[in-house]
Amino acid sequence: MTDTAAGHVWIAGAGPGDPGLATVACVRALANADAVLYDALASPALLRETRPGCELVYAGKRAANHAMSQREIEAEIVRRAKAGQRVVRLKGGDPFVFGRGGEEALACRAAGVAFTVIPGVTSAIAAAAYAGIPVTHRGLSAVLHVATGRRQAEDVAEPDDGTAFRKPGTLVLLMGVEGLAGSLRAVMDEGWPAATPAACVQWGTTARQRVVVATLATLADAVAEAGLGAPAVMVIGETAALARELAWFEPGPLAGKTVVVTRARAQASELAERLAALGAEVVEAPVLSVRHTPAELTTDERVGSRWDWIGFTSANGVDAFFEALAGTGRDARALGTTKVAAVGGTTAAALRARGVIADFAPSRATSAALADELPRVQGARILLPVSSLTDGRLASALKARGGLVEQVAVYETVATPLEAEQREAVLAADAVTFASASAARFLRAALGEATIAADARLIAMGPESAAATRAAFGRVDFEAAEPSLDALVAATVQALTWDS
Ligand code: SAH
Repeated sequence: MTDTAAGHVWIAGAGPGDPGLATVACVRALANADAVLYDALASPALLRETRPGCELVYAGKRAANHAMSQREIEAEIVRRAKAGQRVVRLKGGDPFVFGRGGEEALACRAAGVAFTVIPGVTSAIAAAAYAGIPVTHRGLSAVLHVATGRRQAEDVAEPDDGTAFRKPGTLVLLMGVEGLAGSLRAVMDEGWPAATPAACVQWGTTARQRVVVATLATLADAVAEAGLGAPAVMVIGETAALARELAWFEPGPLAGKTVVVTRARAQASELAERLAALGAEVVEAPVLSVRHTPAELTTDERVGSRWDWIGFTSANGVDAFFEALAGTGRDARALGTTKVAAVGGTTAAALRARGVIADFAPSRATSAALADELPRVQGARILLPVSSLTDGRLASALKARGGLVEQVAVYETVATPLEAEQREAVLAADAVTFASASAARFLRAALGEATIAADARLIAMGPESAAATRAAFGRVDFEAAEPSLDALVAATVQALTWDS
């Protein structure tokens, strides 16, 4: 690859999903890019290979909800390259295998923009491989066809003798989950025997990989029954049966499980990302949103000397406090000699993200433990930046120990209704996670009359969320060992692998 100084387009394949399957050339191009236009199927982990300041533009391409049209994408890469940018057009799999990379190359050529094509590992071969299916195999298959299940929709003339796929071998269908029964019937009409082994590989090479092996005649029903969806490849031919012997890849422990995340949208992403990395199908149900309420106390010029302790009990409290501080043009240094206490790992992590290491953390991650264990309370001036819903128990307990306590509501959580589709998804999920008491209360309200499936696992982060979940839904199935994301994720894995 040439390190062209400026104004160049790399049409790069990201590989099928497992970031380890991206080529060295692809990773180098990303590290060198001023802008990356990426597809939904390009592994998000690869975007971390870019340097700070690189523009990441989502050019989404999942059937039905295109974020940008193909022509818009072409115009955009040409425009950026002409402006002197090093542009990577990052596509799932291989850019020239049903990736429309050829059209983008033509657009560059027409505009006089220099380009490089970086081939990628195509899902047509890699998803099969991760399911234990060699696409050719001595004695079983000596020819590989790659087609799409949406051939009807492609603007290419069909060969009129219908013999295109008749030659025995392996036929891989991309984009084939929708209308699968029809596609498979068409394959049988083309002369493939109904008993031919056929496999469906969903999210191949990723933690979410799931595989169903059946025959041409039975695959559509088997896929529907197992609930597999796009993206998936169908592998048809004698070698598909080898999946039964050669399956080797272990997907994540949550593969095939649907898990609901009920946090506010802004905070849901880390939890959602962690669960997805373990293979879960994540349903975001943002039943609450967080609104920061400007707090007088934090904007006081003398923040640093005014308080002996600031006790943070939530990451929201930390964020709201520091944003109020930033609103007056100040940062963590304004805390001066004030000591900081943090309840829970998530709260401590939020402080660390602001450059503050907590001076004290109670032995258990609860407000009650903080009330009992906070040192040097007698005569100390203590600020508690909390939610508008927080009761006065912590403040009273610290006052009882001789502290001069001020509790200030720095944020409020506001109930947010769910879309009908989100509600359906919640009701059908395998597990629902509650990271706060309000999440449980607000989900209860958002569901109206409907009830969560009896066999769905309800998982709460910490005792307060657990109590609220019990009050709202009559039960809690698993409680995270402590109120942290790590513990919530661990509890979710435990809840969903318990009896399988
Ligand atoms: N250029 C891509 C294909 C793009 S078309 C490639 O070479 O892989 C999009 C289709 O690719 C999806 O509908 C699905 O059939 C397939 N696909 C992409 N990634 C996949 C994956 N990880 N597992 C299974 N199929 C995948």
